[in-house]
Amino acid sequence: MIVVTGATGQLGRLVVEGLLAEIPVGEVAVAVRSAEKAADWAARGVEVRVVDYSRPETLAGAFRAGEKVLLISGSEVGSRIAQHAAVVDAAAEAGVALLAYTGVLGGDEAGFDLAAEHKATEAAILASGLPHVFLRNGWYTENYTAAAADAVERGVVLGSSGDGRVASAARADYAAAAVAVLTGEGHVDRAYELSGDRAWSLSEYAAELAAHSGRPVEYRDVTPAEHRAALVGAGLPEAFAAILVDVDAAIGRGELARDRGVLSALIGRPTTPLADSVKAALGA
Ligand code: NDP
Repeated sequence: MIVVTGATGQLGRLVVEGLLAEIPVGEVAVAVRSAEKAADWAARGVEVRVVDYSRPETLAGAFRAGEKVLLISGSEVGSRIAQHAAVVDAAAEAGVALLAYTGVLGGDEAGFDLAAEHKATEAAILASGLPHVFLRNGWYTENYTAAAADAVERGVVLGSSGDGRVASAARADYAAAAVAVLTGEGHVDRAYELSGDRAWSLSEYAAELAAHSGRPVEYRDVTPAEHRAALVGAGLPEAFAAILVDVDAAIGRGELARDRGVLSALIGRPTTPLADSVKAALGA
């Protein structure tokens, strides 16, 4: 049995679809905090287990000996060390055969704040002694393209990464990597640094938006303080705005453009080109 947490989220949904294309539905379970949100999985015959990373009592008995578990990192930044540790404890208690974890590109070497919770989770997994795989995901292209229409409307992409480049990939590419390690052999105790085949700058991204919308779009590089103020002004909480500005600094240092080719080798195809993601986002 392969058990996927976060399976009602965007990445998790793609992973479960990918698994269902490869293995019988009776070998796939999801561990999610809302059975309601997983009703479509249940209707298709996927076993649904209800867990909440924040409530360890819901995790006791959620996994069984010999199962492979994919822990998709949670979305509550700041709470994730304890949340993920609770999942690791439950997996260790059960004696799972494999614990795969979606961390962040660079692992221990990542120098940006968002990586801290991932580093702590990887350390907890290593301390558990469980057979594991670290899927260190780079940036999702969708982090940008989710706001593509807005950027076209305003004619501006705003950031503070200078001419730094990011080798992003589509969520579907990272999901395919998770499916490959969960269904394949030879991945135990490995760490994969996953990123897109091509690195691009925000100026190039703005040019893609312009090309596929037929409207002028430019990249406006601002100082970190200006960037932070703009994000807060757009409604982001201060702490999260600071995290995103810190990521732009990491992009400026080239930290999110590393290890190109590992992801495409793992999934056996090129990663999704930026232009394809932009076109899909703009319906072009
Ligand atoms: P989503 O926000 O779409 O999905 C997160 C999933 O985690 C959801 O299914 C959510 O459940 C589940 N979850 C959150 N908190 C808990 C909890 N306390 N107990 C159980 N489940 C929980 O994110 P994505 O699918 O897009 O990305 C997956 C993860 O990747 C993110 O959670 C984040 O850690 C990381 N990430 C990576 C990025 C990158 O560029 N590499 C960018 C953004 C995030 P529910 O469906 O009930 O809300």
